[in-house]
Amino acid sequence: TRRMLRGTQASASGSASCGRPYSSVAVVGAGAAGLVAARELARENLHVTLFERGSEVGGTWVYNEEAAGDKSAYHIHSSLYKSLRVNLPKEIMGYSDFPFVDRTGMRYCKHLEVHQYLQDFASFFGIDRFIEKDTLVEQAEATSEDKWRLRVRPKGSEESEERVFDALVVCNGHFESPKLPQGVDKGFVGAQVHSRDYKRADVEEFIGKRVLVVGAGPSGDDLSREVAQVASAVHWSGRGFDRFDADKMASFRDSLPPKVRLCSNVVRVEGGMAHFEKGEDEPAEVDTILWCTGYHYSVPFLTGDVVETRNGRIEPLYEHLFHPSFGARLSFIGLGFRILPFPFFEIQAKWVAKCLAGGCELPPKQEMLRRALSFYESIDREGARIDMTHCMDGIQWDYLERITSQVEGCEKLEDWKIQLYELNRAKKAKHPNQYRDLVLPEERPFMDAGREAMIRE
Ligand code: FAD
Repeated sequence: TRRMLRGTQASASGSASCGRPYSSVAVVGAGAAGLVAARELARENLHVTLFERGSEVGGTWVYNEEAAGDKSAYHIHSSLYKSLRVNLPKEIMGYSDFPFVDRTGMRYCKHLEVHQYLQDFASFFGIDRFIEKDTLVEQAEATSEDKWRLRVRPKGSEESEERVFDALVVCNGHFESPKLPQGVDKGFVGAQVHSRDYKRADVEEFIGKRVLVVGAGPSGDDLSREVAQVASAVHWSGRGFDRFDADKMASFRDSLPPKVRLCSNVVRVEGGMAHFEKGEDEPAEVDTILWCTGYHYSVPFLTGDVVETRNGRIEPLYEHLFHPSFGARLSFIGLGFRILPFPFFEIQAKWVAKCLAGGCELPPKQEMLRRALSFYESIDREGARIDMTHCMDGIQWDYLERITSQVEGCEKLEDWKIQLYELNRAKKAKHPNQYRDLVLPEERPFMDAGREAMIRE
């Protein structure tokens, strides 16, 4: 049985109604952010064109066994690895009115199920009609007539086509351009792999090898455990470990396979040796480095210095979303990290769509810029890392509430989802190895809420 949905299906309207400030909108990227953006824009009766360079929807969730390196520009890049299971329970992962269906009984499902979910979402809401697949956005340029001129190139075509829109919504993802720590590699002689290109452990680079895993984020966590199944030793280095207190460190060590040794930040890899920040961490002989060091933000098609991406953030942006100079005419959905992704994208998309349809006003340009700059100043003042600008961790609920409160008809994220997210975070910290297969008693009431929501809808 298919779920019943609270929301209406997306309108197939091709034109904007009279008096609306904008009519045509280009969305770049048919991943989780672009798909929900297209639905919300269509619901506001805007004329949407969704460009996707690949031949499928789903972005990150379109798993490909081969690494990205040798692919054409039309390849959907996926940084997923073969064994990946989601790190959030399915009850809270989906969009507000399109819950995951329980096909497999796995709360933390495999990546293929997420891809299927996104495909279902696109077809249920008729988004497929707005998508131009196999079409690469090569260039987007602001014109003096307050339009966006795009150069798009369908696959196999020698020439790009020019297309003009009132507004541009960028949903091109940010898990594609690998970030490597500067100045660490002083002539390392072994193999090097970035988590972007990691697919499985049972390959030459890892079997029986001494592996250095760098990075204490979710990929470093999953992959050091996975690689330990085949490697002879794993040295897992990360800045994050410094923040652990003694208790947390002890239980964390207990959760790791015995082959995994925790090390402080790696400062130098030279010849076949890795050297660490803390003197007490003995240098280690390593054969392979697995860099789980994250990604750069990149918007290569946007011309004319519209945004700066070099500092590990996209700037200047008001509320991580709107460009002050263009307001609703230029937005970036999904830049946040450490978030509840799909609901986060959905709420951002509702704001963008409402603004473009004239149902919501943004502050004046100068004010948006002032607020963006003062946010950046606060980051400097607090001594926080600039590349953590879009990290929403502790502030995401306030952020989402701020948006929903000003977008008419936008429902607040339900409390039970927030509670379950926070329980999941705590469970993961305490049981990093088994959290996906563990149901804590305190989760049950929220799981019930999730099930009820699915039935009700
Ligand atoms: P993407 O999925 O990257 O989509 C961007 C799309 O834009 C792609 O289809 C790409 O082909 C297209 N594109 C880019 N440039 C162009 C161009 N110039 N022209 C045309 N098309 C273009 N989230 C969760 O909720 N749960 C999880 O468990 C989870 N696990 C994750 C594990 C890993 C390893 C990674 C990397 C991410 C994970 N995430 C998870 C986060 C995940 O990235 C988001 O859930 C979400 O899928 C991101 O969607 P997006 O639309 O922003 O970007």
